[in-house]
Amino acid sequence: MASNKFKRMLNRELTQLSETSRSGNQVSEFIANTFLEKQHDVEILSPPLKEKEKKKRPMSQISGVKKATQSPSLAPACIPRFGVNTPHESLLAKEIEDINRWGMDIFKLAEYSGNRPLTVIMYSIFQERDLLKTFKVPINTFITFMMTLEDHYHADVAYHNNIHAADVVQSTHVLLSTPALEAVFTDLEIMAALFASAIHDVDHPGVTNQFLINTSSELALMYNDSSVLENHHLAVGFKLLQEENCDIFQNLSKKQKDSLRKMVIDMVLATDMSKHMNFLADMKTMVETKKVTSLGVLLLDNYSDRIQVLQNMVHCADLSNPTKPLELYRKWTDRIMVEFFTQGDRERDKGMEISPMCDKHNASIEKSQVGFIDYIVHPLWETWADLVHPDAQDILDTLEDNREWYQSMIPRSPSPTSPDEHHAEVEPLFNLPGWLGKLVFLDRFMSTFIKC
Ligand code: AMP
Ligand code: MG
Ligand code: ZN
Repeated sequence: MASNKFKRMLNRELTQLSETSRSGNQVSEFIANTFLEKQHDVEILSPPLKEKEKKKRPMSQISGVKKATQSPSLAPACIPRFGVNTPHESLLAKEIEDINRWGMDIFKLAEYSGNRPLTVIMYSIFQERDLLKTFKVPINTFITFMMTLEDHYHADVAYHNNIHAADVVQSTHVLLSTPALEAVFTDLEIMAALFASAIHDVDHPGVTNQFLINTSSELALMYNDSSVLENHHLAVGFKLLQEENCDIFQNLSKKQKDSLRKMVIDMVLATDMSKHMNFLADMKTMVETKKVTSLGVLLLDNYSDRIQVLQNMVHCADLSNPTKPLELYRKWTDRIMVEFFTQGDRERDKGMEISPMCDKHNASIEKSQVGFIDYIVHPLWETWADLVHPDAQDILDTLEDNREWYQSMIPRSPSPTSPDEHHAEVEPLFNLPGWLGKLVFLDRFMSTFIKC
């Protein structure tokens, strides 16, 4: 299978890279840790779980689900225009006009909605797509669920909060409307993709899977170190449907509910970055064998192909910051760096090894972004653009402009290097044949993540 061959090649490149120099090894580790599945050595955890269970509460409940503080139940007649009460309704109305545009200002939406961007964006999109009527979702149940979900994103986490969730929902909404996919997906699939985007990072603690595993957290134990966060986001998202007046799927048939649940699980699990290379390889295979109908839209005639496109779509939406207008992209970068550095501080305090990109004393933000685009974001979006050609050309152009901007912002003064460390600049890689070939240049990439 293409993905296996691809992973073997990538592993070979990473092994070679790790042998070239100290920082080459660090970058190789970052790429492998974050974007590849780990080959684990089997180790037995002690003390055995049974012993622990006797002392602590058994893991029979999903952590993170809070008691409702206020019952946001609203009588249908009292539903505000955009689902939430705000003194800035006209400003909010203006922002929402951009709902179908790549690059709408989600930060302004957060501001004008009294920090309810997720509720407002989901309500507007569900209305725009007529999903509330199609699936007989009671409006007050919808608003109650959305506010409860939004409350389960952490306001004190800089990046993985309700604004990021709203951004991914809105990005998915735009991608669903791409001409190459016109009328391809059913309303149930569309609703599943929007719901998956809305819950995809709920109750995110602001640290990575690897941090949770390394600190033997409850979550890592609960999910046996596999897709720890993603499993948790799903569990919390579905659990919240059981809260009072929160079951937005109450009028779906059993078959529809089962199908939606399976799709949502498949999509959210695909947001685990360690699966990135697998999904990218499979999407490349799909592009090579792409079939279109007589109407010029993609022909996806089985579950595997349909879910693969939806998984990649949500994954693209999750990795879409660098494709947005620069002023928005820069805000996201500031936020993710705050979150990474906060994790780095915790690692330093605990005497742990500091994760790549998380050391505030030893990071180049601009170089990191160029590397992140060259090795992860551009290959992904280039493949998506091939799949829906020519729909995503503007997105790709913005991504390339943003990459040039970050490249131009890399401080000119050379950072101190040891004799075996070199290549402070990251050269444009887009014109190399085949993105796999870029991996050969990972040695140059080292300085984008770790300041030598
Ligand atoms: P998620 O954590 O589900 O939002 O997945 C996105 C992941 O991609 C983040 O956790 C980061 O590891 C990475 N990522 C997204 N945007 C950026 C960015 N602007 N700079 C660096 N890494 C990013
Ligand atoms: Mg996530
Ligand atoms: Zn996310």
